[in-house]
Amino acid sequence: MFSYTTAIAVMVLGGTLIFWLMHNRNQAKHSQPIIDPEKTIIPRDKHPVSRRNISDNALKVINRLNSQGYEAYLVGGCIRDLYLDLHPKDFDVATNASPEDVRRLFRNSRLIGRRFKLVHVLFGRDMIEVATFRANHEQHHGQEKSSHSDSGRILRDNVYGTMEDDAMRRDFTVNALYYDGRDFSVVDFCNGVEDIRTGTLRLIGDPITRYHEDPVRMLRAVRFAAKLNFSMAPETEKPISELGQLLRDIPSARLFDEVLKLLQSGHGVRTFELLREYQLFAPLFPATDHALNEALNEQDKHVYALIIESLKSTDRRVKQNRPVTPAFLFAALLWSPMRRLARELMENQGMPPVPAFQQASMTVITNQCNHTAIPRRFSMMVRDIWDLQIRLERRQPKLIESLLEHPKFRAAYDFLVLREQSGEDLSAAGQWWTEIQELDVHGRHAMIKSLSSHGGQKKQGNKRRRRRRKPRSDDAVSNNQSGDS
Ligand code: ATP
Ligand code: MG
Repeated sequence: MFSYTTAIAVMVLGGTLIFWLMHNRNQAKHSQPIIDPEKTIIPRDKHPVSRRNISDNALKVINRLNSQGYEAYLVGGCIRDLYLDLHPKDFDVATNASPEDVRRLFRNSRLIGRRFKLVHVLFGRDMIEVATFRANHEQHHGQEKSSHSDSGRILRDNVYGTMEDDAMRRDFTVNALYYDGRDFSVVDFCNGVEDIRTGTLRLIGDPITRYHEDPVRMLRAVRFAAKLNFSMAPETEKPISELGQLLRDIPSARLFDEVLKLLQSGHGVRTFELLREYQLFAPLFPATDHALNEALNEQDKHVYALIIESLKSTDRRVKQNRPVTPAFLFAALLWSPMRRLARELMENQGMPPVPAFQQASMTVITNQCNHTAIPRRFSMMVRDIWDLQIRLERRQPKLIESLLEHPKFRAAYDFLVLREQSGEDLSAAGQWWTEIQELDVHGRHAMIKSLSSHGGQKKQGNKRRRRRRKPRSDDAVSNNQSGDS
């Protein structure tokens, strides 16, 4: 009897132990969210988000949805930026109305997206993006509205859920704050307000899982760290350097858009430095990264300086609300790999400079498009900017007027000046083109004439037998060789 009771007790204890062990193992496998959804409502007088700084159109959208019995909030970067006294780039709305309901409610709207179904409500040139509350995928296994790749990447995300679900599937705690237009309160599920206060960028949930779901979140982490001057929480920061290669699975068109957000939003220099630091630059620009590493080995500062100078100039222009073109950015980022390849073609295959330059341009741009798909109108402009470099450096008197009229002259001239600023010796060509643009017709003629008399080309050109001119040492390609080697 005694031994029978003991046996039962041992079995029950053993069973409990096994259950406990299994339970804990499962918990470790499905990494727990770092943040529990605990709703905090911050009333109107306890937060700095003022209606005066919110777009009227965004308010119209949430008020209309509310008046039809739906829940609707302003969410994401707009509330984060208003908290930080920054000017929001756009206003996003989250609601429990389905995309089809939203579409029906607003005549001036359109349904977009397959991966994420959204509605754009249009007010002239202004647009408010409305998204239906989405849920975390793990809570909805078996639904066909979401799907993952083998690496855990989200391929489709149309699983709808509650407001809490929606908060938990957002990227950073500071991006998961909701503004309620009915009582003007802010709703915080993830301690986002505290993270704003301490300047912390913290991914919601288990960082490794969340980066696998969408590797672009790593780029967003860097972008917000630079823009907001925030520090990443240690667990958010740690996996990034090892997971950069996940970006190679992201469609190149999406990465092109992300690169523009990263480098053309007014914080390009800092963002570029962080991308390099977290080893996220190489998967985006492998050839440039290689050229940068080689140049550092060779103590060649031009390569790095050109990129920094171009980003500085872009940052300045963004702050002054002046237009910036992706072509200029890509011309600067890919200039060194292009020149390295051109030099190789000249040295190894004996190709003359101009065709070597052209072939290298085409190859480098084509290769880059596998990583960040550059739309054709921009890649054509990159090539124009590069082609004009040789001609701007040569300053052939007969071509000066037509170069000044060239539709891409301004961009090419800016690029030439940038190259000089980054330390390349271009025999003061930049200064020369600066001066000639400031003169009237007579002044320009005088400058061109003095160029002819210095070079002696005009006088000799007509009398002497025409000879094919050998490339001079100050031609763009050969000069760059001397600059680089
Ligand atoms: P900004 O508009 O200033 O660039 P943002 O935070 O508003 O920053 P958006 O791209 O406009 O960025 O996205 C709006 C919101 O959608 C984000 O704040 C975030 O809550 C959510 N979000 C965007 N991209 C992701 C993503 N890849 N993963 C999870 N949530 C995301
Ligand atoms: Mg936004």
